[in-house]
Amino acid sequence: TIENNASEATNKAPVDGPALWPAQAQAPQVIGRQLVIEGGEGSYIVTREGQRLFDGTAGLWHANIGHSRPELAQAAYDQMMKLETYHTFARFTNDKADTLAEKLAEVSPIPAPKIILNSGGSDAIDVACKLARRHWQREGRSSKQIILSREFAYHGLHAYGTSIAGLEFNREGYGTESLVPETARISLDDPEQVRRAVEEIGAENIAAIVTEPVQGTGGVNPPSEGYLETIQELCRDNDILLILDEVITGFGRLGTMFATERYGLEPDLVTFAKGVTSGYAPLGGIFVSPRIWEPFYEDSPDTPIFRHGSTYAGHATASAVAIKHLEILRNENLVQRVHDLEPTFGAALDSLAARNDDVVEVRYAGLLGGVTLREEVSAGAVCDRMVDKGFVSRPLRGNTLQVSPPFIVTEQELDDFLAAMDEAIREEA
Ligand code: PLP
Repeated sequence: TIENNASEATNKAPVDGPALWPAQAQAPQVIGRQLVIEGGEGSYIVTREGQRLFDGTAGLWHANIGHSRPELAQAAYDQMMKLETYHTFARFTNDKADTLAEKLAEVSPIPAPKIILNSGGSDAIDVACKLARRHWQREGRSSKQIILSREFAYHGLHAYGTSIAGLEFNREGYGTESLVPETARISLDDPEQVRRAVEEIGAENIAAIVTEPVQGTGGVNPPSEGYLETIQELCRDNDILLILDEVITGFGRLGTMFATERYGLEPDLVTFAKGVTSGYAPLGGIFVSPRIWEPFYEDSPDTPIFRHGSTYAGHATASAVAIKHLEILRNENLVQRVHDLEPTFGAALDSLAARNDDVVEVRYAGLLGGVTLREEVSAGAVCDRMVDKGFVSRPLRGNTLQVSPPFIVTEQELDDFLAAMDEAIREEA
């Protein structure tokens, strides 16, 4: 789990295990104990042994519309029968990447955007940070290179995501604290501290502030009152770009299409992934505001190039799946459903906190919730017990349990899930 990364192996002989190297875990702790998921349907997944589990985390916050929808399999099949993909470099593009970008522009959290497509959230963050720096270089303000991120932030694990991680353990062991030059951390919830940090570092050295609107992996931390607004003002006043990482919150998780709307923000760049396809294809990207893209579109021989792209950026099959997925979100009113469920969801979490003394705090927004336990009761062990009962949760930073079911969750399923969590906490206490 995230929490046990720092612990030391005691047995020097390597354990024998499957060829697949497990991510984000001390290998010997999970080898032989991994749940091999072979199937899924709606809000449930099925293990190799045939156990059916309620997916209370929607996988890694991705399975928003639920698992194994045939329409998406059909969309992928139809596209592959016609063309698996063709790259989107220079003079080439493909019809599905083009169509997807148009559809995304229609729901964009940024007016009149250009859209960069790539293969996931970590990828999107790398490109967004590069673009922020590229912007200031082009403006001739070459000292503006530092990317500021928040304590406990998670922005994936590519070079930039690793370097700007606010979860310290994700930055350890690489020789230098940062894989890229110039990053620094700012306060989780105190805008005054952020203001002081900007003064100390100097706005002339800062390219961008990047933040998740509601922190996910850091323990589900909704912003404190006025935090995001103050950060935005600080960015405006100091010529610092605001990058919102909506990899979890994008496409409905907070009951609005983007958190940008919920909190009334005007970011320069917005990253997305997970919820753009609900995980039916690996896809991510960035919404780019006109202030950033216009100079790269000037009709002039001197127009600069932003060197982004990869073989699978704008992958035609992934794009076809995303187009169909957006249709499902809209036709089934799923974002509105999250909005409508939020009061019930919040009340159910509050009720859990009220009736269980081992719950220290609950935090939530939309269908994104965290349940923090007393230090003495291990969130990891509670999750193990929940699996035995047929429910999936996940331990996050700060001894917190993740609660982020698919958007199609019923009130009954939510009650059952939190009842199982309550029971597992009591058994573990
Ligand atoms: N940003 C945020 C806020 C995330 O939660 C994640 C993944 O959980 C990422 C970026 C990285 O996305 P991916 O795992 O698709 O690379």
